[in-house]
Amino acid sequence: MPFENLGDRLRNAFKDLRGKGKLSADDIDNALREVRKSLLEADVNFKVAKKFIADVREKALGEEVFGSLKPDQTVIKIVRDELTALLGGTQTKITLSSTGLTVIMLVGLQGAGKTTTAGKLALMLKKKGKNPMLAACDVYRPAAIKQLQVLGEQVKVPVYAEEDSHEPVEIARHAVDEARRLGRDVVILDTAGRLTIDEALMEELRQIKSKVHPHEILLVLDSMTGQDAVTTAKAFDDSLGIDGTILTKLDGDARGGAALSIKAVTGKPIKLIGVSEKLDGGLEEFYPNRMASRILDLGDLETLIDKAKTVVDEEEMKDAAQRLSKGEFSLDDFLHQLHQIKKLGSFQSILGLIPGMGQYKEALKQIDFDGKEMKHLEAIIYSMTPEERRKPEILNGSRRKRIADGSGTRIQDVNRLVKQFKEMKKQMKRMRNGKRINPSLLGNG
Ligand code: GDP
Repeated sequence: MPFENLGDRLRNAFKDLRGKGKLSADDIDNALREVRKSLLEADVNFKVAKKFIADVREKALGEEVFGSLKPDQTVIKIVRDELTALLGGTQTKITLSSTGLTVIMLVGLQGAGKTTTAGKLALMLKKKGKNPMLAACDVYRPAAIKQLQVLGEQVKVPVYAEEDSHEPVEIARHAVDEARRLGRDVVILDTAGRLTIDEALMEELRQIKSKVHPHEILLVLDSMTGQDAVTTAKAFDDSLGIDGTILTKLDGDARGGAALSIKAVTGKPIKLIGVSEKLDGGLEEFYPNRMASRILDLGDLETLIDKAKTVVDEEEMKDAAQRLSKGEFSLDDFLHQLHQIKKLGSFQSILGLIPGMGQYKEALKQIDFDGKEMKHLEAIIYSMTPEERRKPEILNGSRRKRIADGSGTRIQDVNRLVKQFKEMKKQMKRMRNGKRINPSLLGNG
């Protein structure tokens, strides 16, 4: 999960502030010391971390009062706002020309995820009603052309390639001409990468830039490489000039140092993020405020709702929410929710979007929602009578044995499911009672 470790550490940093009536400078400094450590451990640029702490301290000591927020919540809100600023402030979209052809040039080092991202981006644009075309401008790796062609087929977007050419600048020019001729409205140039930055590569990219005048030059960066990604961004921006970055593999980046430093160091925004290997849904628009809330486990309901809208019936959602809020949560609902969640993506990725769920992460991790265990879970629930699903407390030994036999599982499996369900219900109740979450922190205003 992105920023998992950082989120844990930050939540810990604020633990001691909870329940205090008023915060002293010492309290704030103690918490901020932890915040600073967490940032450095997340591989955030040293100077960036230092400034961040100074800014939060100044605001926290200024004791701004936010409506009905308690002191610890006030500090969390300040930290959230500063994290948002660090991640880039407001969302920066990629610029698409509303009249003519938009040329997007993807650049980056080998392995950063450039080609995959080209495919994902083409699909994302297609879903927005655009008519994209992909162009293979990497002439050094023959496999790169093939890779893009395969991706193009998968997302059903045409790919321009010149298999015998060694002139990337020419290919780029021809690709743009071809896109115009075919009446496409976006062309995505997948350029060559190298293992490290070298002058020949930069020169080639500069030439492509000067010949085709891209509307967007986007640098694809592997977020898992932390500060190296930041250094790469700085080098590309100095040498080529970029309009923004696409940060890939955020799904595997527990630290998040690159994401938190890039804007501050280069001044260039993160425009898109890669959140899975999948072409469909694996690329998302980047919203700094949503990500900041996610890091602090204040949830990211907007993204969840956006995702949900694409797969879930809205009426059904309302209904489920209502039943949940009344505490009428049965094993049928549990199963139904799991099915809905499965449609949204991997369970772990969804968890991070729900406010307050971070703290139950460990407990929930034990459930393998995406694989075999999910099938067992279904089989067990289907082997219960409607009454048992509504009131699992009536499940005595003999009922459990019958269910285990009926579902081809073991009694231990049934016991574990019942225990997990009870635990989940308890947590939902706690969330409902707002024990840990202050709703006013959830708005991203
Ligand atoms: P390129 O050399 O920059 O073109 O890199 P590729 O597009 O070939 O990607 C390198 C590897 O990273 C591939 O295995 C991709 O599936 C993987 N990858 C790319 N983006 C993501 C992402 O957002 N999440 C994950 N988990 N993997 C990704």
